[in-house]
Amino acid sequence: MPCPQRREHKVIVGAHVSIAGGVENAVENAQFIGCETFQIFTKNQNQWKEKHYNASEIKKFKSALSSSNQDPNHLAAHDSYLINLCATDLEKLKKSRTAFLNEINRCTDLNLAYLIFHPGSHMEKGEEWGLRLISENLLWAIEASPESNVLLLLETTAGQGTNLGYKIGHLKTIINTVNKPERLGICIDTCHLFAAGYELRGEKGYQNTFQLITQEIGLENIYAFHLNDSKKDLGTRVDRHEVIGEGYIGEDLFRNLMNDDRFKNLPGFLEIPGGEESFKNCLVRLKGFRRSSG
Ligand SMILES: [Zn+2]
Ligand SMILES: [Zn+2]
Repeated sequence: MPCPQRREHKVIVGAHVSIAGGVENAVENAQFIGCETFQIFTKNQNQWKEKHYNASEIKKFKSALSSSNQDPNHLAAHDSYLINLCATDLEKLKKSRTAFLNEINRCTDLNLAYLIFHPGSHMEKGEEWGLRLISENLLWAIEASPESNVLLLLETTAGQGTNLGYKIGHLKTIINTVNKPERLGICIDTCHLFAAGYELRGEKGYQNTFQLITQEIGLENIYAFHLNDSKKDLGTRVDRHEVIGEGYIGEDLFRNLMNDDRFKNLPGFLEIPGGEESFKNCLVRLKGFRRSSG
């Protein structure tokens, strides 16, 4: 049963968990480390090999979920790392499009709320070119899955290599071009955002950056967070996640986020190193940051 206290929650905290041995195992893994909700890969993220869930797998997942206290309305999948929605190689682009549509379909089958993905890498063909192609392919995928309620969430990136999404303006361009607000939004990865050059430390850094994002993208388009500290400093454009409070960002950001009424009831997923112990500790700490509102 949904916990009535959940109403009080600001950011709902969870983590990326494994589906090894069956997707239903994700639920137990999430429970074990203290998640309130969770994120998964719906298949091996490093292979093109496809996966379709059959009725019995879906049933097992849903029944594990209903006998857990995980919030079923904020479950997320992260797409495969191989997908590039602006690949320059035509064969790779075709594969990416098909794989992305299959990602959406698996989320639909499992009733996951969000599919979180990195926009794409333009491979030296230029940012404008890349953003246009990503927008076209997203529109195609949205139109090819008209029955789906899955929200596609563009993730902010650190901007390694030719990765797009390290500027808030990139996400704004894609969202405006696709113009399907009921199907497309954003996920803010705190490590990526910081590595991309957006200050998140101190009250001023926090307020300025989130004011900029809400002005550019609109508060209503922010659906989720990846809650990660950063092993690399501001503006390095290197993507290395760190345990909360042990990286360059520090714990104040997370304390701020956990108590920000603008982000009430949005999910935040940890993607940090250190395995189960590290997830457990960080989830306890994040929950501890919440101040009870009067
Ligand atoms: Zn992330
Ligand atoms: Zn990352």
